[in-house]
Amino acid sequence: MIIAIDGPSGAGKSTLGKMLAKNFNLLYLDTGAMYRAVGLAVLETNASFEDKARVAAIARNSKIELVGEPEDLRIFLDGRNVSAEIRTNEVGQAASIVSTVSEVRRILVEHQRTLGQNSATGAVLDGRDIGTVVFPNADLKFFLTAKPEARAVRRYTEDSEKGTATTYERTLAEINQRDERDVSREDSPLQIAADAVVIDTSELNLTEVFEQMLGITNEKIAQDTPV
Ligand code: C5P
Repeated sequence: MIIAIDGPSGAGKSTLGKMLAKNFNLLYLDTGAMYRAVGLAVLETNASFEDKARVAAIARNSKIELVGEPEDLRIFLDGRNVSAEIRTNEVGQAASIVSTVSEVRRILVEHQRTLGQNSATGAVLDGRDIGTVVFPNADLKFFLTAKPEARAVRRYTEDSEKGTATTYERTLAEINQRDERDVSREDSPLQIAADAVVIDTSELNLTEVFEQMLGITNEKIAQDTPV
């Protein structure tokens, strides 16, 4: 069973993806964390983001691993735990830039397909292109979205808890900038797959969205189970 969860940043994909994976005992793959790891690697080598060949080489030579249970997922870059480091706004912006490089996408998509296919029980993948590119034949596709202002409030609250908040206005501007890059890039732009279930989470709390996703997933499992 492959479940794709796509949508813009701050729509709740990772929290809900983890909850769904835990509930159905599936592997959880945070594909954004992979782009973040490449972004961090580029920042650390002081390479120019303009130098696409160099950025692609960094992606090719980086060993990115996702380790642990969904609620305790750790990200390793070349054997180093970078789970906390990749969550800064600076690395988020770096991830958004490296994700526009086709060769980087090709490398990471291949990695994501291998991990998903090799999971004995199946996987929940969250990202921007899961239902359209990585697993176009996924059993179930969700597209989670929310108004930019609602996503900015969530991100700002999270950042405040971590002590990394700037201002709400700046958070909103960053969200808008990342949205713009995600929808306008030539390779695998953020799009709603034709067969995706779209959920607008602006006015819903986590439990309400989870209940909806759970209901739809259970329906799908019942449909696919021979009687
Ligand atoms: O989801 P997250 O915010 O961690 O992703 C970081 C960046 O990686 C996003 O802004 C997006 O540009 C990129 N990304 C992508 N394709 C994916 C996952 C993330 O382009 N499947």
